[in-house]
Amino acid sequence: MEHKKHEFNGMGIFVEYDVIVIGAGQAGLSMGYYLQQTNRSFLILDKGKQIGEVWKNRYDSLKLFTPRTYSSLPGLALEGIQSDYPTKDQIAEYLSLYVNAFKLPVKLEYSVKGLHKADKGFCIKTNQGEYTAKNVVIATGAFQNALIPAFSVNLPEQVLQLHSSQYKNSEQLRDGSVLVVGGGNSGSQIAVELSKDRKTYISVSQSQSFFRKKSWEKASFGG
Ligand SMILES: Cc1cc2nc3c(=O)[nH]c(=O)nc-3n(C[C@H](O)[C@H](O)[C@H](O)COP(=O)(O)OP(=O)(O)OC[C@H]3O[C@@H](n4cnc5c(N)ncnc54)[C@H](O)[C@@H]3O)c2cc1C
Repeated sequence: MEHKKHEFNGMGIFVEYDVIVIGAGQAGLSMGYYLQQTNRSFLILDKGKQIGEVWKNRYDSLKLFTPRTYSSLPGLALEGIQSDYPTKDQIAEYLSLYVNAFKLPVKLEYSVKGLHKADKGFCIKTNQGEYTAKNVVIATGAFQNALIPAFSVNLPEQVLQLHSSQYKNSEQLRDGSVLVVGGGNSGSQIAVELSKDRKTYISVSQSQSFFRKKSWEKASFGG
């Protein structure tokens, strides 16, 4: 149902936000942290049911490739050994902790459907009504849509195909060997996991060079 989301302060005056941030992932929450230190009114809208949902939905064994020291957001270090790599669930929990620690005004289950220029700023259409703001920050991330190569439609039905965003663990697969297409961080991590109990091939477009996650107890990303 489409309705106007007019918010009023205690004196019955219509509130137009100075800033509305769309997306409560790392980028949106960091933005919130800095906005909290100004006197601007702001709101962060996210379509998820819970903070960190995008991380929760990723494959079970996912460990970040950035150590804690480079996975922390401003103002609050991720707990644990700084040169170690956090799991995806630890990141999801950390993001939730971050929202509470800085009392960031996040509205969950607000999916932004449209954005257009209004007289003095912007009108933001959500599944729960419209907002107006003088400034809008779009922090919706770069990994919302899966990129599936066109040749995949030509594979026979008996070949089970899963994009890495649908993959959770090896139990989803049929018996037999597996081909992992793509040797980025996800492809490589999934291939290593699968190779423990089945024949695993990995297809890459150019020769890969892997480097150690740690050398001399220092994380490769400088932790
Ligand atoms: C498998 C995988 C592993 C990764 N590992 C690492 C890693 O180890 N280290 C690293 O630094 N990065 C990693 N990344 C990249 C990582 O996701 C980004 O660095 C980081 O999460 C980007 O944060 P973000 O806030 O820009 O986007 P996101 O975390 O994607 O957050 C975007 C938010 O916007 C919300 N949103 C989207 N559309 C709408 C809408 N229309 N209305 C309302 N809300 C909306 C989403 O619900 C989400 O909460 C990985 C990515 C993937 C896919």
